[in-house]
Amino acid sequence: MALITKKPRGTEDVLPRDSYRWQFLENIFREEARAFGYKEMRTPVFEHTNLFERGVGDTTDIVQKEMYTFLTKGGDSITLRPEGTAGACRAFLEHGLHNDPLPIKAYYLTSCYRYEKPQAGRLREFHQFGMECYGTQAPAADAELITAAANIFERLGLRGISLEINSIGCPKCRAEYHKALTEYYSQYRETLCEDCKSRLERNPMRLLDCKVPHDHEIAKGAPMMPDYLCDECREHFEGVKEYLDANDVAYTVNPTIVRGLDYYTKTVFEFLSGDIGAQSAVCAGGRYDGLIEELGGNPMPALGFAAGIERLLLTLDAQGIEIPAPAPCDIYIGSMGEDAHKKASQLCNILRKAGMYAEFDVVGRGLKAQMKYANKIGAKFSMVLGDDEIANGVAKLKNMDNGEQSEIPLEDEAFVKEFTAAKLAAEFAE
Ligand code: ATP
Ligand code: MG
Repeated sequence: MALITKKPRGTEDVLPRDSYRWQFLENIFREEARAFGYKEMRTPVFEHTNLFERGVGDTTDIVQKEMYTFLTKGGDSITLRPEGTAGACRAFLEHGLHNDPLPIKAYYLTSCYRYEKPQAGRLREFHQFGMECYGTQAPAADAELITAAANIFERLGLRGISLEINSIGCPKCRAEYHKALTEYYSQYRETLCEDCKSRLERNPMRLLDCKVPHDHEIAKGAPMMPDYLCDECREHFEGVKEYLDANDVAYTVNPTIVRGLDYYTKTVFEFLSGDIGAQSAVCAGGRYDGLIEELGGNPMPALGFAAGIERLLLTLDAQGIEIPAPAPCDIYIGSMGEDAHKKASQLCNILRKAGMYAEFDVVGRGLKAQMKYANKIGAKFSMVLGDDEIANGVAKLKNMDNGEQSEIPLEDEAFVKEFTAAKLAAEFAE
């Protein structure tokens, strides 16, 4: 049988030698989420297809072109999640979370699936960190959410991440705007791309989002939503900006940032990286006050964002930001002979139970090769056990950094105690 050695297009493996890079980000996400009172939420990787049709919107690119949808053996239509918000809202409703103290603050770290053309920063399986907040209309909540994202990027050490914000109003003020937008674009109808022709009929706001150069030019002269905001939406937007100012979060207002569906309301925002080429959005989000109702619940204001983990890693690389390497092996215990080998196994185990990272030979190598391996994995200390050491109950502990050696008793309790002391002394000396 032929060897299966090719992953599907648009997917990536994370290898043991690289996973610390992901964990570094994930730890920061979790810590920052905690600081803002967000708790983790986990939802299935697949959901009923109609959840996304309604929750993402059936005029969006995601639903029209990008979903991984299939029929189960039972005949149900199932879709791999293309994003995290719809599943989170479904779970919110299914478990009646509106009965818990509001606001509900949830975060997730998940894989997402979109059938797109793979290129730098655009994958078919990718990963998002997202935060979702339910049960508040207050502009302070929008600013708090945006600040959480800004703090994360700051902690990652990223430079030159720009924040662009906009308000797309509410269904009330947007009706006027849609009229103006449709009127403006109608004069160019024949010259628009096919997608935009259909957007003009179904979802005019999305016209501003078109990446085709000709249509992009036309968008520059289009009427802009901020000029059409009703008093309530205008005040809300002002409030968001004031709280962002209070938090020292820098932003620019970009009236072309849109989400083309009625249940997206008021605040929308994007964080952009100047260092990763065309796929520059590392994070996007906003308010979706109409979404919970759209999915069948009672009206419930909500907001959230999602950040693309692969794009954040690309940005870190592009900026030459070094991710701290994981702590190396505390000790490698080499051995010669059957008894010594068993003793090495046993001592490693008691160190591991004491929270340390210890290794011995599980391959069957000779002593020389064992010590070569200890060097390769960067063990901080090493020790060699042979018949003499077993007989005397004492061995030589070697600090691999400076070559210093000291005697260490092999009796369990004394061994752990003295090794811990040696390890602390070495860390202190660093
Ligand atoms: P884009 O403008 O790149 O198409 P989007 O508007 O489709 O992004 P969202 O649905 O808002 O993206 O998803 C939030 C974030 O997830 C994006 O800002 C990006 O960082 C990341 N992301 C989206 N699609 C992909 C993908 N195919 N591959 C890698 N990351 C992605
Ligand atoms: Mg996209």
